[in-house]
Amino acid sequence: MSPDAILDLPASPPNFNRADFDRYVMATYGRFPITMVRGQGCKLWDAEGREYLDFVAGIATCTLGHAHPALIKLVTDQIQTLHHVSNLYYIPQQGELARWLVEHSCADRVFFCNSGAEANEGAIKLARKYAHTVMGISQPVILTAQASFHGRTLAAVTATGQPKYHKGFDPLVPGFDYVPYNDLAALNARVEDWNREGRRVAAILLEPLQGEGGVLPGDPTYFQGVRDLCDRQGMLLILDEVQVGMGRTGKLWGYEHLGIEPDIFTTAKGLGGGIPIGALLCKSKCDVFQPGDHASTFGGNPFACGVALGVCQTLEREGLLENVVRRGEQLRSGLGRLALTYPTLIAQVRGWGLINGLELQGDLKAAEVVQAALQKGLLVVPAGPKVVRLVPPLIVDQATVDQALGCLDQALGTLVA
Ligand SMILES: *Cc1c(COP(=O)(O)O)cnc(C)c1O
Repeated sequence: MSPDAILDLPASPPNFNRADFDRYVMATYGRFPITMVRGQGCKLWDAEGREYLDFVAGIATCTLGHAHPALIKLVTDQIQTLHHVSNLYYIPQQGELARWLVEHSCADRVFFCNSGAEANEGAIKLARKYAHTVMGISQPVILTAQASFHGRTLAAVTATGQPKYHKGFDPLVPGFDYVPYNDLAALNARVEDWNREGRRVAAILLEPLQGEGGVLPGDPTYFQGVRDLCDRQGMLLILDEVQVGMGRTGKLWGYEHLGIEPDIFTTAKGLGGGIPIGALLCKSKCDVFQPGDHASTFGGNPFACGVALGVCQTLEREGLLENVVRRGEQLRSGLGRLALTYPTLIAQVRGWGLINGLELQGDLKAAEVVQAALQKGLLVVPAGPKVVRLVPPLIVDQATVDQALGCLDQALGTLVA
């Protein structure tokens, strides 16, 4: 692939310039000075016609890649039929998507919203209501993990166990505490501490694999221990499947790698293949929401649910889980070879399916590798300061994985010199 290929593409929208963009849009993101204008499969093109291999996929979101024929048809058909009516009425697509999710997971019930953070907010509210009404706890505590990521709304960011995301936003939401990830002894001790203070722990909220925290897979022994602890104490186990759910790991849900089932879980990123949608799922025993308890104007609308249902069916029809397993193995073994070629740069390769991390060593920062890869026409994204994350579309093929590994090899070559 030639990253410098100039293609016959429409330029960026008329009158677009980045200075205007920066004048009118809040500066909440650190952006590359690149304007993306078109996508096809696993490729993106910028306004200068440069071609990129997209191993970011809108941050683990565009599961079917860009301009997938099924996605185009779903979006077109649904917008022509009905796109939004509110939850004052029955919405067939919402019911069908809920049925698909229930039939393909351990959950019995679903609530739809628009993002990962919103799904986690719902999970936190559900757990608190369960604590009040079923457990009889008036001041419930929810434990989460250090280095976790659960989103940017106030309760979700409080649940996020990373001080850098809390800075400047005090007072945070009360009722959260943090424990080290994959450390059962520490978790047991913290639950005991809270019990001694008379403030019971209502729920434990964890990612099956920590995504933003550095692509750290959960340890099955740990999660089985967490499950036992929750069962013994009547606490809820909530899993945040926002990044790893919907097939990203080669199984539909991250918990399938851990040999346990959660009581409540959330998903979002991959669910709509890039169309905004999130979902909160739970076992029927936890469904304590009653009419009026929770709501979302856009949540579960015919458009988002119709498209997401089609994404789910495409995942099944095209056997994408199988592809994720194979391409994931190919990618990890290629990254393993790069680790041997560049032992001074790479400390470790880890991941499940098509969520993989390259942990760097020495002074090298993930941002430097991301920049060097970009120069070679490959898009990747950091997961913390020292980990480069590779999360391509789930449709990625063998040749594209090889191409990406080639780009990364060249990029690392420029950094070792
Ligand atoms: C991205 C992410 C979120 C937040 O999702 P948004 O859609 O950005 O609100 C929450 N949890 C995890 C694990 C994520 O990766």
